[in-house]
Amino acid sequence: MEYPGELSAVMYVAERPSVVFVEGRGSWLVAEDGRRFLDFVQGWAVNSLGHAPPAVADAVAAQARTLISSSPAYFNRPMVTLANRLAALSGMERAYFAVSGAEANEGAIKLARKWGSLHRGGAWRIVTAANGFHGRTLACMSASDKPGWGALFEPKVTGFAKVPLNDIGAMAAALTEDVAAVMLEPVQGEAGVLPADLDYLRALRALTRERGVLLILDEVQTGIGRTGTLFACQQAGITPDILTLGKGLGGGVPLAALLATAAVSCFEPGDQGGTFSGNPLTCAAGLAVLEAVTAPGFLAQVCERGAYLAERLRALSVRHGLGEVRGSGLLLALGIPAGDAAAIAARAFAAGLLLNAPRPHTLRFMPALNVGRDEIDTMVERLDGALHHKTPATARG
Ligand SMILES: *Cc1c(COP(=O)(O)O)cnc(C)c1O
Repeated sequence: MEYPGELSAVMYVAERPSVVFVEGRGSWLVAEDGRRFLDFVQGWAVNSLGHAPPAVADAVAAQARTLISSSPAYFNRPMVTLANRLAALSGMERAYFAVSGAEANEGAIKLARKWGSLHRGGAWRIVTAANGFHGRTLACMSASDKPGWGALFEPKVTGFAKVPLNDIGAMAAALTEDVAAVMLEPVQGEAGVLPADLDYLRALRALTRERGVLLILDEVQTGIGRTGTLFACQQAGITPDILTLGKGLGGGVPLAALLATAAVSCFEPGDQGGTFSGNPLTCAAGLAVLEAVTAPGFLAQVCERGAYLAERLRALSVRHGLGEVRGSGLLLALGIPAGDAAAIAARAFAAGLLLNAPRPHTLRFMPALNVGRDEIDTMVERLDGALHHKTPATARG
């Protein structure tokens, strides 16, 4: 398989519409042919502040003129400041910076295995959740439970047991002597926005403490305000031993982080590293994002906009006989009982609206965290049209 025309030089790894985007501003993306799209995908929950936010653009431009890379062999100012900032905000004490969520999770798996070898009699297995998603390196694919991945790229990395989410009994039974850690998402994003119950997360924290097993929370998608609190685990009032971040952290700039308590941070020189780890350009973007997201009133507004979007989606669901609205903050999903979510997303695209269908029965909404109520209204209008099977009236914004 390949893409048509000049697009064929891009390796075929995903189905993509033959539209080339050239510009983005806030909640809007502009294609080369002039069409404007209202974006409720936002780089896959990446653009926390929307497209080309001045705060991030200015920080990156200023840093680019100052210092782009000093190599991972030396400290640089944005790296040190961001590590301290994340530590203060998360309750974790150490930060390792990476470029992608998968890389941060790969680091978390390595750290847990090293910790198990030093502090838990060589325990190395990791228990993850059914339907979980942790990224696309070999180990992260093995840790994930995505349909279709079972037989891909064999042999898998071994040692990942999967248990159903929200079943503390199954988890307790899975925590054998050779288990070093539990790793899961507070809200399973790629699975279709399936939240772990807050009571389950609290029970899991108590259970892992009692058994002497690490708790790794993958907040690559849920972190940085996406669910209405800076980190989703704060809603359960728990702190993990290892916390991974990605997506929204850089506001569109590739930046991820592996955070851990001091007690767990047992890497020695040579165990972990990467050419772009702690890169000043990307860390400067992360600092700009954190400043915006932690500004007074910002997260309250995420909750308010999330509640408004959920309310509008529930009304739409009633009108069209659709399923439940799930999720929190601005990570929401709408159930599509007929299982034609991909076709609806394709019609929405034709009508100038970018939406994601992570599963046949689910539409996912992950707008910019500063999305306007008027933009939510426009999104609902266009989705309403797509649900009516209407031909798009206009694709202009
Ligand atoms: C997207 C995602 C990842 C992978 O992040 P990449 O940057 O694509 O490697 C890992 N975990 C979760 C929960 C994610 O949503």
